[in-house]
Amino acid sequence: MKIAFVSSEAVPFIKTGGLADVSGALPKALANLGCEVKVYIPKYSDIDDTQFDLQYRRDIGEISIKVAGNTRIVKLYQSKLPESNVIIVFIDCPYYFHRETVYTIDEDEDERFILFSKGVIEAIRIEKWAPDIIHCNDWQTGLIPLYIKDNYKNDPLFSKTKTLFSIHNIGYQGRFSKSSMLKADLNERYYFREGPVEIENTFSFLKTGLWFADIITTVSETYSKEILTPEYGFGLENVLLLRRNSLYGILNGVDYADWDPARDFYLPFHYSSDELSGKLKNKKYLLDHFNLIFDDNIPLIGIISRLTDQKGFDIFKETLPELIKLNAQWIIVGNGEEKYEDLFRSLTNNFPSKVASYIGFNIELSHLVEAGSDMFLMPSLYEPCGLTQIYSLKYGTVPVVRKTGGLADTVQDWDEQKHQGSDSGNGFSFYDYSGLALFLSIKRGIDTFPFKQTWNKIQQNGMNKDFSWDKSAGKYVRLYEKLISSVS
Ligand code: ADP
Repeated sequence: MKIAFVSSEAVPFIKTGGLADVSGALPKALANLGCEVKVYIPKYSDIDDTQFDLQYRRDIGEISIKVAGNTRIVKLYQSKLPESNVIIVFIDCPYYFHRETVYTIDEDEDERFILFSKGVIEAIRIEKWAPDIIHCNDWQTGLIPLYIKDNYKNDPLFSKTKTLFSIHNIGYQGRFSKSSMLKADLNERYYFREGPVEIENTFSFLKTGLWFADIITTVSETYSKEILTPEYGFGLENVLLLRRNSLYGILNGVDYADWDPARDFYLPFHYSSDELSGKLKNKKYLLDHFNLIFDDNIPLIGIISRLTDQKGFDIFKETLPELIKLNAQWIIVGNGEEKYEDLFRSLTNNFPSKVASYIGFNIELSHLVEAGSDMFLMPSLYEPCGLTQIYSLKYGTVPVVRKTGGLADTVQDWDEQKHQGSDSGNGFSFYDYSGLALFLSIKRGIDTFPFKQTWNKIQQNGMNKDFSWDKSAGKYVRLYEKLISSVS
């Protein structure tokens, strides 16, 4: 089975969030199950050619691609996902991809991913490598299913190709003006009120993907149900309701080659569920790094996040005066909206003995905070899957989360489980999207922390749960097979 896996980011080459983790790991798991997978991402200027041994495909040379009436030159580079035979193809077009950031608010943001989508299809054609499935991810790849169904419908190479579209976050819809359809050489007949590509007088790449893909998946079961409602569907609930028989929720997995405290490349001290002493050493190391005093009896609460409304920082802010009085220390690694960056900067300035922060994107620190913290806070308004809480579980760092999307599917509240006569809880969680509910959950965590035996049990419950990709990759393979055997 040949799978073209198309994404706008993939570890270890380029990462802004969880999509990169998925795109670097799922293809390897698919390959282990016997699929022939090729991954396609743009060649951003931040990708280091020599570090990753990118090879220019001289045999292919230059490909001309038309976007917005202009012909752009695209070249292909190639490498492999680490410790695998999975080929990753880089679509190189400096005009579009040599920018300061991976995603931009530049006027031609639509053109960047039109070029990428066309570039992927042309790369496939030039190699005459007929994929059974093109697996698209998020709005940046949303036009591909339509291209395959319309612009390339007479190309025999794609006569059997099916498309699968994965939603990693329905809040990002790639909305542009109608004129963007012309730039993309798409037929404007698809653009009409509430039609295949239109939403609120814009042309949405995401909606296009949802409409035209043969199958839609999203990254947790709970989120697959939530997005059918106006509260979580961001205006796309109606198209999803129309397509609900083709919508599946498959929980993201974890690449334990990168995220396992027993072998984590970035950790000064390794540890496992049998031997947790290394965790305490990491805590000390982390606190030293941030000039906070180490005290084994004070819980350290970590946050690693994009600093956006989605991640629940408005309710965090609401209850801050109460949170800060608690007997706890806080370390935040994150970047994003200015109002939250400023909030954490000022917290650090005002409470230097309790709070430390790193405002920016730092992969090494993200591993250290997972390992060194006692608790991990993720009060998201919505969370399609969420990976950081799954990493926390593996690192014995007890998650405190809001019960939504993948957070609800991976974190079981300790006290709630107890009420049901079970000691299988692995974290603390709350449902109401309010500062008070957040505060009460954190408080329950802090109050439980001194009871070492109970705490250890909660840690063990998380650490011993297996979230590796094997199971979820198997579910994708079964969907691919279903698609391939379906008649058109
Ligand atoms: P999302 O994709 O919505 O941002 P996820 O929890 O699915 O959220 O994935 C976030 C990924 O990005 C995790 O691997 C996390 O460690 C990483 N991450 C988030 N913020 C930062 C940051 N400031 N520095 C380094 N890594 C970060």
